[in-house]
Amino acid sequence: MSSLTEERLAPWQKEPFEQISRQYEQGQLPHSILLLGEEGVGREDFSVSVAQWMLCGAETKHAGACGQCKSCQLFEAGSHPDYHCLAVEEGKTQIAVAQVRELIEHMQESSHQAGWKIANITDVHALNASSFNALLKTLEEPQPNTLLLLQAEQLQGVPATIKSRAQLRKVGVADVAVTRQWLEQRHDFISGEMEAAIQLFPTAPYKVESFVEDGQAFKSGEFIYDYSDIVQGKQSPMDVAERWQSELENCVFWCQFLFHDVLYVQQGAGEDVVQLKGQFGATRPIAETISPKGVMLLLSKIIEMQRLIKLKSPANLMASWQSFLIYSSQIAIKYKNIAS
Ligand SMILES: [Zn+2]
Repeated sequence: MSSLTEERLAPWQKEPFEQISRQYEQGQLPHSILLLGEEGVGREDFSVSVAQWMLCGAETKHAGACGQCKSCQLFEAGSHPDYHCLAVEEGKTQIAVAQVRELIEHMQESSHQAGWKIANITDVHALNASSFNALLKTLEEPQPNTLLLLQAEQLQGVPATIKSRAQLRKVGVADVAVTRQWLEQRHDFISGEMEAAIQLFPTAPYKVESFVEDGQAFKSGEFIYDYSDIVQGKQSPMDVAERWQSELENCVFWCQFLFHDVLYVQQGAGEDVVQLKGQFGATRPIAETISPKGVMLLLSKIIEMQRLIKLKSPANLMASWQSFLIYSSQIAIKYKNIAS
């Protein structure tokens, strides 16, 4: 098949799409679908593809949205009257009850294009108690020919009513091989930075790509020099903690590679074999200052922080991070590298 939908779907999105389109063709489509997918798998793009396809008026629709018909044109222009997307407004952290009420009003109007009406809520976790209550009736007593797409990053914390009313569809990458293959197809080769980002986000291909393309990889690489200063007593740990606060997760990620490199260097490795080649000038002084035992200790603290990142525990993570940096400023005294 060759269509707009086909072009836009990533390989791992095809199966969930086919499940939905099969249900549609068999007249078995539920009124609400809970789309579950972690950041970096293109969950939002997927929901938009589903919506456009549902609204497409072409006869060849079984193959995906055409991109040509009136409905597709309206959709592409962002002005389809039967499609309503609800996201957190800029500067806010939650979806307001007024937004939900407006959405419900639209969903109760008759369809403008004599087809389906689709609501897309980009983050179920952003609904507060009153906005969720406003949505309840739509969820429990849906209008005919309406589809409610509800998105979430994880099932935990999704209200029970949504879980029981909506059909679950997962959009995700099964393993790192899929990520690697997709990146190889889009880029000539997998760069060192990309390889490093794959280690951190093995099942989030879009996240790997944006991490490298937005220069985040390079920017947080600069952190390594500040960190090296802490170990050498040239900068205060609290100053560095404050400066890099907004990049905390990336810094933790870089530290893991840093300590592996430090251990390599202590075994005699040179600049040509380390992973963070651009940071070698910061790696070497650390290798000369701290003993291998001290480096292993720091590495274990980094692994613990990676666990906190996965658990999405920002308060604990920040506390661990600060104590890690303070510890790093003291470690050269306790674990001095006497070999150098
Ligand atoms: Zn179309």
